[in-house]
Amino acid sequence: MSRIQLLSDQLVNQIAAGEVVERPASALKELLENSLDAGADNVGVELVAGGTKLIKVIDDGIGIEHEDLALALHRHATSKIRDFDDLQKVATLGFRGEGLASIASVSRLTLTSRFNGAAHAWRIESDHGRLHEAEPAALAVGTTIEVHDLYYQTPARRKFLKSDGTEFAHCEDMVKRLALANPDKQFTLVHNGRANLRVMRGDVIKRCAALLGDEFAQTAVQVEESAGPLRLWGLAGSPTLSKSSRDAQYFFVNGRFVRDKVIAHALREAYRDVLHHDRHAAYCLFLELDPEGVDVNVHPTKIEVRFRESQAIYGFMLRSLTKALASTKAGQVPAGVDPETGEIIAPAAPTYAAGTPQTSGYQQQPWRQQHMAIPVVQEPLAMYDRMFSDLKREPGQAAVTPSYAPAEFGATVLSGGNPRPLPVGTRAFMPATDEDGIPPLGFAMAQLHGVYILTQAAEGLIVVDMHAAHERVVYEKLKNALDLDNMPSQPMLIPHLFSADRFEVATVEDNREALAQLGFDLSVQSPTQIAIRGIPMLLKDADAVELARSVIKDIREVGASQMLTGRRNELLSTMACHGSVRANRSLTIPEMNALLREMEATERSGQCNHGRPTWFRLSMNDLDKLFMRGQ
Ligand code: ADP
Ligand code: MG
Repeated sequence: MSRIQLLSDQLVNQIAAGEVVERPASALKELLENSLDAGADNVGVELVAGGTKLIKVIDDGIGIEHEDLALALHRHATSKIRDFDDLQKVATLGFRGEGLASIASVSRLTLTSRFNGAAHAWRIESDHGRLHEAEPAALAVGTTIEVHDLYYQTPARRKFLKSDGTEFAHCEDMVKRLALANPDKQFTLVHNGRANLRVMRGDVIKRCAALLGDEFAQTAVQVEESAGPLRLWGLAGSPTLSKSSRDAQYFFVNGRFVRDKVIAHALREAYRDVLHHDRHAAYCLFLELDPEGVDVNVHPTKIEVRFRESQAIYGFMLRSLTKALASTKAGQVPAGVDPETGEIIAPAAPTYAAGTPQTSGYQQQPWRQQHMAIPVVQEPLAMYDRMFSDLKREPGQAAVTPSYAPAEFGATVLSGGNPRPLPVGTRAFMPATDEDGIPPLGFAMAQLHGVYILTQAAEGLIVVDMHAAHERVVYEKLKNALDLDNMPSQPMLIPHLFSADRFEVATVEDNREALAQLGFDLSVQSPTQIAIRGIPMLLKDADAVELARSVIKDIREVGASQMLTGRRNELLSTMACHGSVRANRSLTIPEMNALLREMEATERSGQCNHGRPTWFRLSMNDLDKLFMRGQ
């Protein structure tokens, strides 16, 4: 081995560049973060060939003083922290003082800057870390940095770069991340001379609409929760708008985009109950906490952080998100949408408070008839009027007012289509209706092919997937019953016997208590036979044998204690599937209405247990568009 010697600055920077500047997008990130730290309101990005030929960032921030220009390109030179104390509570995006030095060591870089108050700008050039003299230049207040030919002289690195298209995609995502976290700044992105993205100053909802799509912004749940020094806010995508990839997942800690296991786990858990397992939620969420509670200096690109109290953060996140997502109930107007116009609006105080199902955030979206150019349509117009004037009657007089209280639904639908009328006065149990007495999901009109319920709602037509909706309702009821340790059992008049194998028999013998907790009364009749004497009341119309068998199977495979804790929801979901109304079963109008009212009162009823939507709305406006009325 040869003797130890100090590495040259140039080499040290190049080694750092290996970590900090993995690809054009990471160089771009360093430059954008500097612009934001400098207080820029407008940030322009120009790229050529995915950033491999040119990355140019133009900002209108405070600028750099002439004397500091060369220092900015030096390693370990920063204006953002001074001592160890500052490092403990970093409030800027950068602080390591190595971004510019690293980039400059593996490219040809030009830095032009005019400090706020200076007579003119100065420019300095660096060729792979070798600095030239600074010279006067013309520029408005702010900073412009050009990075040419990244990794041109480092072929080993250059080899790892992907196609220009891929590198550009990474750069674009980087701009998106920073733009989502800074909705009050304007960003533009130009690639190969063509404008690719331009976002104007606004609020988070507008920014999300521009960058993640209107549909996301319109259907997402607005989150706003705090506990002590912790605050979680932003938009949590509706489970029905889930994606098959993770690319619409944005999470920021104190304004910094991060990937963190604790956070990812909390998000997964919160969505698990409402999302199909191979789907991914879309979200744009911000966690804010005291900078001293989070260490941002654990990774060169600062993509990872370390929380001082990670358990507390996990608990807070899970509670807040579960609460927010519980409000994805049927019939609710999503966050950030003007119920009058359907337009995206600024974030208001959160509309969604879980646990208040009776006064849900639902507001009626009045339908507006478009102007009609063709005279022949007078007739249908009059028909609409007739249809809707009917609904303007007193609530009690509406022709199809449901006459069953929600709590009775299990007893009516599941008892085989012979519902028992309730005494007058039970209408008090109905969920909140709008002022015309039309409940959010409207009144059932018909059943379509034994699968869908068609309802007339205030703003148009609603189509409900009857099986999916009922499954969710039953599932939520089972969860509540088990939570309260009150799962009533329905005794069987005559015990059902079924032949069982040794494992099934042993499972029943070993788990009588757990089975009783779930509402089952099972006993071993003989070494090869099990008797069912009772099943959960909520599932009393299910096929008792099939139901018992599937529960025994689950318990046998995973163990009762696991099944009642960690895998509880899975088990209840299986049970709900057995207990819910099958497709092709015809329902009476009152039964359908009872289901609709149940949905309105049930948390998470906007999706079935597998994350698919349970209902769909075609507003009068949508229908008008379909028939090209008013065009
Ligand atoms: P860091 O951001 O960690 O401080 P950098 O190497 O990225 O390190 O930047 C070094 C210094 O150069 C910064 O601390 C800042 O003072 C200055 N600087 C860099 N970019 C800009 C900019 N766009 N506007 C104003 N000052 C800048
Ligand atoms: Mg920096």
